[in-house]
Amino acid sequence: MSIIDNLKTIKDNIKEVCVQQGRSEQDVNIVAVTKYVSIETARNALDAGLEHLGENRAEVAVEKWEALQPRGKWHFIGSLQSRKVKQIVGKYQYLHSLDRLSLAKELDKRLKDNEVLNCFIQVNVSGEESKAGLHPDQLEKFISDLAVYKKIRVVGLMTMAPFYEDPELTRPTFKGLRELRDHIQALQLDHAPCTELSMGMSNDFKVAIEEGATYVRIGSALVGRE
Ligand SMILES: *Cc1c(COP(=O)(O)O)cnc(C)c1O
Repeated sequence: MSIIDNLKTIKDNIKEVCVQQGRSEQDVNIVAVTKYVSIETARNALDAGLEHLGENRAEVAVEKWEALQPRGKWHFIGSLQSRKVKQIVGKYQYLHSLDRLSLAKELDKRLKDNEVLNCFIQVNVSGEESKAGLHPDQLEKFISDLAVYKKIRVVGLMTMAPFYEDPELTRPTFKGLRELRDHIQALQLDHAPCTELSMGMSNDFKVAIEEGATYVRIGSALVGRE
């Protein structure tokens, strides 16, 4: 299957869910996760009309950005060590894995005065030990503590569901993230509009969209693995 064929299938799925839910397809952004593939394949993804690209390791993230920019909107989706922050600031427009104040502080320090980084707070909704992210009980305090970092904008929340053969089993995780998002959004914080939900991957994006995802992060089902 080519990226064009895969994208058509994924878009058909998105459309089907959006029609059922009375949502606009435009509200669901596809982040093409290119971490398993080459620069050439990432370029093919851009050529196929995808604009959001996601990477999870700093060195490779920078290599792809250098080869392909100014095309693309760049999403850093993996855990980010503070000492690697300087490699990606000014290049990546979105961070999906903000989970500690020390990282926010380093980002705020490295961003230029007029730069703002769109951040998703990663939440470990399922409670799986292997998963990164804040405990849901820590979220509100964490977000209020971020107010001092003027270059950090909390655009939404992100989670990863456990892998299940049956994607239906991921539903409680996604529903839980949506409820947390609704709660934070209702606080109407200037630095944290928190309107977005980054959730859903190759195996479970349909369920995630049913539960309100606005950014789905899709790798293997879209650009394959090399
Ligand atoms: C790898 C990865 C994805 C994409 O995974 P697929 O199952 O290949 O779609 C999405 N989100 C994160 C955080 C990832 O690390």
